[in-house]
Amino acid sequence: MSIRDVILAAILLSSTCVASAKADVPNVATDIAPVHSLVAQVMEGLGAPGQVVRPGASPHGYAMRPSEARILQEADVVFWIGPQLTPWLGGAIANLAPQAPVTALLDARGTTLLEFRTGVQFAADDHEHEHESGRGDQESAQYDPHAWLDPQNASVWLGVIADELGRIDPENAETYAANAKASQLRIAAAEAEIGEILAPAKALQFVVFHDAYHYFESRFGLSAAAAIAAGDASDPGPARIEEVRQTMHDLNVACVFSEPEFNPAFVATVIEGTSAKAGLIDPLGAGIEAGPGFYSALLRSVADELVKCVD
Ligand SMILES: [Zn+2]
Repeated sequence: MSIRDVILAAILLSSTCVASAKADVPNVATDIAPVHSLVAQVMEGLGAPGQVVRPGASPHGYAMRPSEARILQEADVVFWIGPQLTPWLGGAIANLAPQAPVTALLDARGTTLLEFRTGVQFAADDHEHEHESGRGDQESAQYDPHAWLDPQNASVWLGVIADELGRIDPENAETYAANAKASQLRIAAAEAEIGEILAPAKALQFVVFHDAYHYFESRFGLSAAAAIAAGDASDPGPARIEEVRQTMHDLNVACVFSEPEFNPAFVATVIEGTSAKAGLIDPLGAGIEAGPGFYSALLRSVADELVKCVD
């Protein structure tokens, strides 16, 4: 093939893409990278959503940049986890995207919700209650918002996202629905694969930085011994740190996982003088390339880091 043929082929290919892409695909705003990835999967071939919370930042407390505010300003539709994760974002959506329909995924029908765990040591008092949300009436207010780490929630949300985009953009509804279906199959395959990856880690005693992994643990049959910080990622006080150290001693904890979004000094403090190894897990996948492939890669990365500690 000559250079001229390559250029011709590229022009043909790009014009085909332009012809098949619908110009009126809505502008979509999302909050965090996992939600961005699920929406990107549903929109694949048509467009890509914007993301408000930048990679590597904690969504629990956040200051938007002007470019991120613009994503909301230009949004025709918004998908976010909900105010439980990003209390600061509700007001920003109301101010910057007052006309846009907004979907809080925690309120979506069929979402499995888990209550916040209280205290430091989960092994002793791990009461799990699964609830089916769906009335959309702030019923989920007291629940742990890190629900994206359950692949079955992601699967439910793909359907919700496709329905909502199809309602707003009926011309492309079939594509959204077909994309969601294909993604649901891929996520189910990833879930099975991750279950196998995690087999050696079932009995692992580990401490996480903040209480963000309840959904992941619950779905894959693991159990963190403790979290240094609570589910809202507020800085732990000296009493909590001491309790974590006691738990580590009592349960012979093998690994303590820090997170790139938070101060590593707390991890260094709890690990000091113990034989526990330090690891790093990121519930938001800051190092993973954004886009459709992000979501399954995120789950795999959490599993890989946990298993690394077993070796
Ligand atoms: Zn969190």
